[in-house]
Amino acid sequence: MPEDTHPTELLPGYALGCLDRTDLIAAASHLAECASCQERLREYRELVGFLAEAVPPRDPPPSLRRRFMERLRSGPGGPGAERGDPDLARAKARPAANRP
Ligand SMILES: [Zn+2]
Repeated sequence: MPEDTHPTELLPGYALGCLDRTDLIAAASHLAECASCQERLREYRELVGFLAEAVPPRDPPPSLRRRFMERLRSGPGGPGAERGDPDLARAKARPAANRP
């Protein structure tokens, strides 16, 4: 097989397993006899594995989920609403300041 016919554009798809049948056969038959494409495919496969591991987990931590649900349940009059109300914050702080 001539050196200038490496199906390099097929190798990423081959590593991902998303080639159609014609391209898959072309890539596989070339890979069977081309060491440099085998090496390149190995690198693509490493990259694919790395990308799969690099994706962060989608489930939020349980503590965040619990706080979020509490915030939802408390609604507009609940603990979350105090933070944006300076008058209410002062009214609560005054008796505390007078304590010994
Ligand atoms: Zn090749």
